[in-house]
Amino acid sequence: ATAGPSGSNTLPDGTKLPPGVVLDKDGKPCKTCTSAASWRAMLKQASTSGGIAAGAGLAATTTTSTTSSTTSIPAPPASTQTDCPPDVEELGRSTWTFLHTLTATYPTSATPEKQTQMRSFLGLFSNLYPCWACAEDFRNWMADPSGKNEPRLSSRAEFGQWMCEAHNAVNRKLGKKEFDCRFWEERWRTGWKD
Ligand code: FAD
Repeated sequence: ATAGPSGSNTLPDGTKLPPGVVLDKDGKPCKTCTSAASWRAMLKQASTSGGIAAGAGLAATTTTSTTSSTTSIPAPPASTQTDCPPDVEELGRSTWTFLHTLTATYPTSATPEKQTQMRSFLGLFSNLYPCWACAEDFRNWMADPSGKNEPRLSSRAEFGQWMCEAHNAVNRKLGKKEFDCRFWEERWRTGWKD
């Protein structure tokens, strides 16, 4: 998967990074915008070509085995560590779980106050999401000039459908299969019928 079309993946010094590596606004590789596979490819490139890691500030962010003078428990070897910072995919999966669960627990009929709160949340979320390239595309999708993607917040049914469409817009961008939105409640609220 790629982080989307928004990010350039050439370092300020002209070094070309592997496909899918997205840079942060400060010009350094953005881990939360990049898949683990692309990140690994970049580290491999860095280890063979030497200069990239230092130039991109990777040394500080990719250290996987550390010891500290305050702990007596040695860190496990890097290859067995699974509790690592999220890549764009893990962050995405966790966030979709949160967002769809938000719709599943939304009132069947929402008060104007609740709708205002949720509108503010979506505005903040789409500005603060840690993968900036994802956030930018999501904001642009919501702000489609036709108005067709504006959040629909009057009820759980409306909001759940809207979130499913939002997720499908990202699925399409990434070349993934779209989800049939008729089944969003089975997936995220009631569970599947036997
Ligand atoms: P996910 O897409 O994470 O889906 C998790 C589960 O949700 C699926 O297993 C399925 O059961 C269910 N599901 C799938 N589609 C729908 C739907 N339409 N409605 C309801 N349920 C559904 N990644 C990038 O590389 N680039 C991006 O620009 C990007 N933008 C993102 C923007 C946002 C707002 C979020 C939250 C994530 C974004 N991601 C992006 C991450 C990406 O969407 C995926 O989360 C990630 O690629 C992992 O995908 P996955 O195949 O494991 O399943």
